[in-house]
Amino acid sequence: MAVNASSFILRCMTHACEFPSDSHNLVCSNCGGPLEAVYDYEALRKAHHGVPADEKNRGVWRYSPLLPLNAGTGIVTLGEGATPLVDASRIAEALGLDKVYVKDDSRNPTLSFKDRKTTVAVSKAAEFGASGVANMTAGNAGSSVAAYAGKAGIPAYIFTIGGISDSKLAKLLSYGAMVFRTTAPTKELMTFVGDVAKKYGMVNMTAASRYNPYVKEGSKTSVFEIYEQMGGRLPDWMFIPIGGGGNLAGIFKGLRELKLLGLIETYPRIVGVQGKDCAPVVQAYEQGLPPDQIPVVENPRTIAHSILDSWAPDGDQALTAIRETGGLAMGVTDEELYQSMKTLSSQEGLYLEPASAAPLAALGRLMGDGTMGAEDSVVLFATGSGANQPDATLFAWGEPPIIELDLEGFVRYISK
Ligand SMILES: [Zn+2]
Repeated sequence: MAVNASSFILRCMTHACEFPSDSHNLVCSNCGGPLEAVYDYEALRKAHHGVPADEKNRGVWRYSPLLPLNAGTGIVTLGEGATPLVDASRIAEALGLDKVYVKDDSRNPTLSFKDRKTTVAVSKAAEFGASGVANMTAGNAGSSVAAYAGKAGIPAYIFTIGGISDSKLAKLLSYGAMVFRTTAPTKELMTFVGDVAKKYGMVNMTAASRYNPYVKEGSKTSVFEIYEQMGGRLPDWMFIPIGGGGNLAGIFKGLRELKLLGLIETYPRIVGVQGKDCAPVVQAYEQGLPPDQIPVVENPRTIAHSILDSWAPDGDQALTAIRETGGLAMGVTDEELYQSMKTLSSQEGLYLEPASAAPLAALGRLMGDGTMGAEDSVVLFATGSGANQPDATLFAWGEPPIIELDLEGFVRYISK
């Protein structure tokens, strides 16, 4: 499938160095800083009413005027995006809030939000004529890259961090990539994957926008969808899980673009949520550290495996987004994650992995301290399906009883 080319340049976020749209740079070739795609917002504003869109396409590629593709290239798509904004009315009522929505990105082709990033990044790799793609993963990102690379016919080399669960490994293996398990910490492995990509001339497809500007372009489309799903407005608050920080960075780029297009005047307040014992961005936020001094966490642990990142490569951008929107960063406990998972599935029919329960866990805590007003509207970002980490669901709910087919015995059991 082809989409129309857009007009953009790449700009370095450190020194504003600029590169043309046909550059193959993934980071600034002058200073090593992260790159960002910049569009002609004034022209787009004149040409489109509302969010610039291509009505022929659905999902992520509906927003192709704001996606960084050059002329004549096809896209690699599995039908990602266009996920529902679920009206979580039972949760809203229980919390005493006007409106709570869940942006359910677990309903993407490989069961996580990563597909938004990957469809753009793999389409760019195909445009570059890449010989291969390399990725490091806790599970979901690697599965997504493997699936899209397989569809594109591009070899994928996927390196997993320690402790990947069998369920995530099975999903990852199913897409036929070359998978290598490691026990290395996040930061060291990310450097190694960069070195492998360089050695073999592959595109580095880690989910961090610090190493690949195109992943952020995919992430931002969830904001455009929410804006349209809410009838041309945004909520007062957005609660977003933070692992590496790339999704939050992408979401903030979407917000900045809506403002540049004159479609919003103020930002929703962003609450970034991490596991309490794996919370580098929360630590930096609480200690008032500058964005370039986010710590690396020793011995990280949280049941939310999808955000088990001891180092947050895009944490600087996430922290900046939290501060610029007047939001906050919070760490939540495993117990809060289990409880929130159970609430989301039993009251709203949303089968989600623990990382996706982090936003509700944080919201629940804030409701007690007067931060939120009853009139406030909230969007919780659900990033991955419960099928990615079913062990956590089994643990949360406990084993169901095994019964005999004896009616009287059953009645006695129920009435106990
Ligand atoms: Zn630069």
